[in-house]
Amino acid sequence: MYKVTASTDGTKRIDFDEGYVSVIIPTKNDKYAVCVSCQIGCPVECKFCHTGNMGFKKNLSSEQIVDQIKAAEEIIGKPPYSVVFMGMGEPTLNFNNVIEAANNIHNEFEIAYRRITISTSCFKTISKLLNIPFNVAVSLHSPFDKVRKSLIPSTISVKSIVDFANKYHRKHPRKEFMVEYALMNGVNDSGKDIRKLFSLNWPKKTSFNFIEFNDVGNFKRTDRDTIFKFKNAAIKAGYKSFVRYSRGADISAACGMLDYK
Ligand code: SF4
Repeated sequence: MYKVTASTDGTKRIDFDEGYVSVIIPTKNDKYAVCVSCQIGCPVECKFCHTGNMGFKKNLSSEQIVDQIKAAEEIIGKPPYSVVFMGMGEPTLNFNNVIEAANNIHNEFEIAYRRITISTSCFKTISKLLNIPFNVAVSLHSPFDKVRKSLIPSTISVKSIVDFANKYHRKHPRKEFMVEYALMNGVNDSGKDIRKLFSLNWPKKTSFNFIEFNDVGNFKRTDRDTIFKFKNAAIKAGYKSFVRYSRGADISAACGMLDYK
C-alpha cells in the first residue's frame, strides 16, 4: 500500500507503508522519470541528506524495488520512460537486489538498459559497477577530497573516482559516464572548484549534471547564475553538461529531502 502526494510542479512523491519512498518526475513530451529507493534509510550518512540523517534501517528486496515501478505505472497510466536509482539508499551496498530489480524492470516494463541509471556516492564497492549494462552515475559534489569527505564521510578519493571513470570508459567506450554535482552555496560552488573540477583527467565521454540543490539543514542552494557558470565551464572543457532544476521541494521529494514521514 502507498500514499501519493503531488507537488505544484507536477512531481509526485509515493510513500510506501513499509517506509520507503519513490518520486515520479514529469520530463519532456509526456514522459516520466522515476527515482527509486533501494534501502530504507541509508548507512552512508551524507551530511546534506535527510535519508542519511535517518541512519540505516534495512535493504529492500528486488521485489520491493520493482513494486515502486509498478506503483508508478499505476499512477502515470503507462510505464516510466526512465528509472534512476537515486532515492533512499546506496545501490552498491544492496548490489545483488538492485541488479536483479534493474534487470526485472528492463524485462517487465521494456525500459532500455540505457534508460536505467545506477548512482553511487563512491566506495570501494564502486568496482561492482564496471560490468553492468545500465548507466552509471557518480555523486562527486566536490573535486577536493577534504570537502567531499566532510559531505560523504566514508567515500573514496577523487583520484580513485577519476581512475574508475577511465576504466569504465575503456570498458564501455560508447557509453557516457555521468558525474552528479549538487551545488551548495559556499561549500562547492567557487571559481576554485570549477578550475579544479576541469583540471581532472575525466574521460571524453563524461557528462556533468549540475543539480540545483535544496535547502537541507545548514546547506543552502547556489544561485542559478553560478550553476550556469559550472555548466558553461564543462562545455568549454569539451564535455556534455546539464542543469537539473529542483523539483518537488514543496512535498519533500527533491534531492536530499527523502525521509520517512
Ligand atoms: S545522498 Fe544517497 S548515499 Fe548519501 S545518505 Fe543520502 S541516500 Fe545515502
